[in-house]
Order: sequence, then C-alpha cells, then structure tokens
Amino acid sequence: MAMPEFFETSPWIADGVERQPPLAGAVRADVVIVGGGFTGLSTALSLREAGVDVALIERDHCGYGASGRNAGHLTPTIGKDFPTLVKYVGKDRAAEYARFADRAVHYTEAMITRLGVDCEYRPTGNIITGLHPRHRKPLAEGGRPRRPAGRQRRVSR
Ligand SMILES: Cc1cc2nc3c(=O)[nH]c(=O)nc-3n(C[C@H](O)[C@H](O)[C@H](O)COP(=O)(O)OP(=O)(O)OC[C@H]3O[C@@H](n4cnc5c(N)ncnc54)[C@H](O)[C@@H]3O)c2cc1C
Repeated sequence: MAMPEFFETSPWIADGVERQPPLAGAVRADVVIVGGGFTGLSTALSLREAGVDVALIERDHCGYGASGRNAGHLTPTIGKDFPTLVKYVGKDRAAEYARFADRAVHYTEAMITRLGVDCEYRPTGNIITGLHPRHRKPLAEGGRPRRPAGRQRRVSR
C-alpha cells in the first residue's frame, strides 16, 4: 500500500483522541497566542501559571503541525552537529547554544513530571553514530564542549 504524501492527522493520534469542540463565539484575553504546537502551548502554560489571562487559538487541533508529527525524540542536539555550529557562530556562542539545549531537555522532563503528562517518555540518552571511519573525528569533537556540564559521552568503535 502506498504511503500518503501528507497525513491529514498525525500518525501519533490516528487511533483517535478526544477532541475539544471548536471555539464558539468571541473570547477576550490579555494575551492571545496563535498556534497550538510546542511553542504556543508551552508559552500559554507558562503565562497561565504566572497568572496571565491568556487564550490560545489553533486552526485545526493542538499538535496538528510539526509538534504532533515529529519523531518524538527529546534530545539536546542543536544545529547539524557541534563542529558545524562552532564554524557558524564560534566556540563560545556554540557552547551557550549547547547549554541552552541541555536546559530545554531538563525543563521538558520536569514539566512532564510536574503535570503527569502521559507521553510514554523514556530518558534513554542519545546516540549519535558514524557510518564511516572519517566520521570518528567529528563525533569525538562534537561532545567535547559539553563535558564540563556533566553530560556523559563515550566514543566507541
Ligand atoms: C519530520 C520532523 C521530525 C522532527 N523530529 C523532532 C524530534 O524528534 N525532536 C524534536 O525535538 N524536534 C523534532 N522536530 C522539530 C519539532 O517538531 C519542531 O521544532 C516543533 O514542533 C515546532 O513547534 P512549533 O510550536 O513552533 O510549531 P508547530 O508544531 O508547527 O505548531 C504551529 C501550530 O500553529 C497552527 N497554526 C498555523 N497557522 C495558524 C493560524 N493562522 N491560526 C491558527 N493556528 C495556526 C498550526 O496548525 C500548528 O498546530 C521535527 C520536525 C519535523 C518536521
């Protein structure tokens, strides 16, 4: 059977989920966020927790975009790989980005725990592999700046 080019519904929820009814009538709020993906939802949640009057508008259903269709990996990867990132923004800024990505993982893990999000999350770690001997050097260099932050890194044959 041929795969469709575009899934109208995310494969993650193709089995069916309870959908909320469309918005009826007008809503007023101090802050209106357009788009119910990770960005909009986490912003709305933070604002609501800070006591801000916030409404979120989604044109289809929350998770309709990339957030509901992605691979589901929670990893601190940022950019193509670390050496490439260093080439573009320099070592110091690249290290800042790497720390930021690390914090994003911890933030998300804490949020999953705090809200009891039933997403079958498993903190398995992250494996980046090489397919050719010449990938070994960039792989080894890719982990170096994170070591002081406490991330474990092991390069194996
Ligand atoms: C194939 C793929 C795999 C990926 N895998 C991973 C992964 O494993 N791990 C990872 O961390 N990241 C992954 N990503 C990246 C990640 O999914 C995105 O960075 C993230 O989902 C972006 O979230 P967002 O909220 O900014 O955008 P989106 O999730 O796209 O949300 C935007 C929302 O806005 C809504 N919208 C748009 N226009 C309007 C409008 N005019 N009115 C109302 N609503 C509107 C859309 O319907 C949508 O729901 C992947 C991305 C792709 C495409």
